[in-house]
Amino acid sequence: MLFKVFPASELMRLFELLAKDKIVGPVKKGEDQHGQPLYDFDVVHEFAQLHLDYGQTIHSAKNWFLPYREDLCTFTFEARDWHKEVDYGAYAPLVLFGLHACDINALNKLDKVLLEGRYPNPFYGEKRENMFIVGHSCSPQPFCFCKSMGTDSAIRGFDLFLTRMDELYFAEILSSRAFHLLEQIDCRDPDSSEHRRFMDLMAERETRFVAHVDTSDLTKILDLEFQAPVWQEWGQKCLSCGTCAQVCPTCYCYGVAEQVDMDFTRASKEKQLYSCNLLDFASVAGGHNFRPESHTRLKYRYYHKHRGFVEAFEEALCVGCGRCGQACLAHITVPEVIASVRA
Ligand code: SF4
Ligand code: SF4
Repeated sequence: MLFKVFPASELMRLFELLAKDKIVGPVKKGEDQHGQPLYDFDVVHEFAQLHLDYGQTIHSAKNWFLPYREDLCTFTFEARDWHKEVDYGAYAPLVLFGLHACDINALNKLDKVLLEGRYPNPFYGEKRENMFIVGHSCSPQPFCFCKSMGTDSAIRGFDLFLTRMDELYFAEILSSRAFHLLEQIDCRDPDSSEHRRFMDLMAERETRFVAHVDTSDLTKILDLEFQAPVWQEWGQKCLSCGTCAQVCPTCYCYGVAEQVDMDFTRASKEKQLYSCNLLDFASVAGGHNFRPESHTRLKYRYYHKHRGFVEAFEEALCVGCGRCGQACLAHITVPEVIASVRA
């Protein structure tokens, strides 16, 4: 990794250099009932729209590379036969500007399944190929527990990572494109006092995390407590709405729906992101539902993220961003669920 520093005033120039491609970043979307700003990832048309001081976005950046709805293939009926067409998409380059470390680590986890897994997803792969990622440091929010999940800093999965140090930006560089980009702005090597300032800033940030999850021996505890009554208690609270999966940067489960036009000339196969908390997630042909009760579905989500994924990839499928707890109308949060199972 290479390091550079540049004056904060140069950030706009950097944005403009990247702006020949579509830029997606944190923009203000309104205010909550307490008058606090709400942010989400969206297309940024001009620098002034970019809010790099955001605490957390409502949704992750996931739907820019794993859309909620996506055509897998289409069929047309011609010359007395069906013809299948698959379009992986010649996706235009995309710049994700201002991702926090948790969301970059979420992308790294998705890559393990959707790029490096047994069945790589070519739709996802096409989008990832054309992506330039600019990370940005964050200020820990009261609901973030990324430090517990080991995802509070990123060492891969980005091109450039920026940390604001008052009048300067400290830049971590991981790609040659990012290196050459910085050559076009007023930029230099950091001196040893700036190295120290950067490390001091990192250490100070570490002290500001308030939410924690004790992950020690968690897979064993989950195995031991599979039948614990506490799962039923959480299940009774859960509304099975699926919101947690919608906002989660690492949930990737999906369903496939096939549609045929009434005149039998065209058909399509559409993929839709789904949630394991939804009532029919484990329904199969014939009408049997393997997880008819809400607690079995909620439990499944936790076991996938904190048990099964750890067994497969030696890391949890949760980056501790806290979005699910913030969005849940039943106030179900990961730290509370894990703590109750432990207890
Ligand atoms: S945990 Fe919360 S957000 Fe998730 S399905 Fe249940 S009620 Fe909805
Ligand atoms: S499970 Fe919740 S805290 Fe963990 S990554 Fe998903 S939204 Fe974030």
